[in-house]
Amino acid sequence: MTRVALVTGGSRGIGAAISIALKEAGYSVAANYAGNDEAASAFTAETGIPTFKWSVADYEACAEGIAKVEAELGPIDVLVNNAGITRDAMFHKITPEQWSQVIDTNLTGIFNMTHPVWPGMRDRSFGRVINISSINGQKGQMGQTNYSAAKAGDLGFTKALAQEGAFKGITVNAICPGYIGTEMVRAIPEKVLNEKIIPQIPVGRLGEPEEIARCVVFLASDEAGFITGSTISANGGQFFV
Ligand code: NDP
Repeated sequence: MTRVALVTGGSRGIGAAISIALKEAGYSVAANYAGNDEAASAFTAETGIPTFKWSVADYEACAEGIAKVEAELGPIDVLVNNAGITRDAMFHKITPEQWSQVIDTNLTGIFNMTHPVWPGMRDRSFGRVINISSINGQKGQMGQTNYSAAKAGDLGFTKALAQEGAFKGITVNAICPGYIGTEMVRAIPEKVLNEKIIPQIPVGRLGEPEEIARCVVFLASDEAGFITGSTISANGGQFFV
């Protein structure tokens, strides 16, 4: 039986690598995205993976979007909460809007997405929820009080929900990537990347999206059934918990 996986923010960056890796591992994959239709169409044309547009920050839209995915592909066995944004600002300059946008997408988004799929996973006694947090949720990062708070919240959510899912065959885990070479990181000025960020990474380079995708494929597998409530730090040695 082919398992069904849904990846939020699955048409670009780390999410695209996750969608492709899950497809290659034999899953029937759907990729959600927020608004970049051009990237989503190009992704579907290239990979054959269908894309579905809604915002993870909108609870009703998530429930509707998930129903659409399940009608087309079948019940969701694997949910990868990958969608995320940054709205960086030093705390003395941050606006309430910058705070809310990041919390609504990166933290409330994983509630909005997981809540509608959870009853089905419980009924079928199987599920995998994999939350993409961040090194900056583990260690905090100046200029990112909003993002660090949301990503740390994702880790608390993961540990609490793992305890609820364990006896129902559902695992809930998190991955904390370090700096990965996607558009989100390439948006950082090159001088800052080369002089400040990369020198702090012991392996001496940015990570590749595929390196995160391989962690997801492992956590989604039957072989990872004894791992729940855990966090995989994939950061090139930059930070140890
Ligand atoms: P990108 O900016 O490259 O891609 C983000 C994806 O998320 C896009 O597909 C985007 O859709 C989607 N998205 C954004 N907001 C929403 C929303 N409200 N609803 C649905 N989809 C949304 O990000 P990355 O690939 O770099 O990051 C992926 C995840 O990994 C994020 O959670 C990020 O915080 C985390 N992370 C990234 C790191 C890095 O170094 N890159 C490091 C640590 C963590 P659209 O294409 O329509 O815009």
